[in-house]
Amino acid sequence: MINLKIQVSEQIQRLKPYIPGKPIAELKRELGLTDIIKLASNENPLGPSPLAIAAARDALAEVNLYPDGSAFLLKQALSQKLNVNSNQLTLASGSESLIQLIIQLLMRPQAENVYSEYGFAMYPIISLGCHATPVAAKSRDYAHHLPAYLDCINANTTVVFIANPNNPTGTWLTQQDYIDFLEALPNHILVVSDEAYFEYVTAKEYPDSIALQQRFPNLITLRTFSKAYGLAGLRMGYAVAHPEITDLLNRIKLPFNINTPAEMAAIAALQDTAHLQKVLDLNHAEMKFVVKSLAELGLSFIPSVTNFVTIDLQQAAMPIYQALLQQGIITRPLMAYNMPNHLRVTLGTHAQNQRFLQALQHTIAQIGA
Ligand SMILES: *Cc1c(COP(=O)(O)O)cnc(C)c1O
Repeated sequence: MINLKIQVSEQIQRLKPYIPGKPIAELKRELGLTDIIKLASNENPLGPSPLAIAAARDALAEVNLYPDGSAFLLKQALSQKLNVNSNQLTLASGSESLIQLIIQLLMRPQAENVYSEYGFAMYPIISLGCHATPVAAKSRDYAHHLPAYLDCINANTTVVFIANPNNPTGTWLTQQDYIDFLEALPNHILVVSDEAYFEYVTAKEYPDSIALQQRFPNLITLRTFSKAYGLAGLRMGYAVAHPEITDLLNRIKLPFNINTPAEMAAIAALQDTAHLQKVLDLNHAEMKFVVKSLAELGLSFIPSVTNFVTIDLQQAAMPIYQALLQQGIITRPLMAYNMPNHLRVTLGTHAQNQRFLQALQHTIAQIGA
């Protein structure tokens, strides 16, 4: 073997890649199981709207053509729905791409990005990949604590990331939390409100981050079609921001950073409000069922407003995760988040949740607390 010594920065050397939920096909290959359920990546158990699938299929006939990189039609649909101007919208293949675009936009030597302990893992990973330094603010009871973010701000800070609700904890912050924080923060620092689970939240005090941009133009809202809209595999996310920020993001984005089937599916998904309502109704009913069942099993969990719940097993989660895999149930251990006793589980259909709960009970009894 030829000895290859390419030179990379200290940031890249520190980078540990993201560990996604185990794909169903991989577990099939490993264990030869057939009846597998995946409750590991906060995917939508009902799938996308049938109208979205049809729109994507129709668009496939034209994939010899490059997509409309400016996504005129989807921007038009979103601007009507959100009551914003098209010049406030940036689209990309998933909101993770927008996180990268924002970090890239602000990149300069010594740049620091602030996120939260127990916050979404992609913020530090993408920061390191862009040669910025991620700084973790202390959390409180597993939730983001914005006053602690302020302690991490210095002259090198370029952007702060708030996942609201947060993944992997399911916790959330209020409008007043945002206002107090944004008032205290110098407004050359951008604030990203990553709202991947926005559609699931019903709390009145949940922030209207798009409206808050009028008062705090350094605030950016990120949303995605991957979760409630069930289009994770097609990759489509969007940012709503001040036109000046949007202009800069659109200048640095790759010209064809989205694809036509995804754009057409997203437009159809936005129109199919009945399907979205079905998804949300199922989720709310199943959240009630799952947390009630967990309480009956004597298990504690972090209260969640999303489509997943994080269980505190009060013992190492890894053996339980492994035992569930043997039974064809994929969940998500949280070692990478420094939460070795927690297991994150996505809410599935009622039958899937029942199967998970039975297997969990059985497994805990076997392994012993
Ligand atoms: C799932 C998730 C995303 C991203 O999703 P995309 O599929 O890239 O749009 C972003 N932020 C958080 C907090 C998430 O949980």
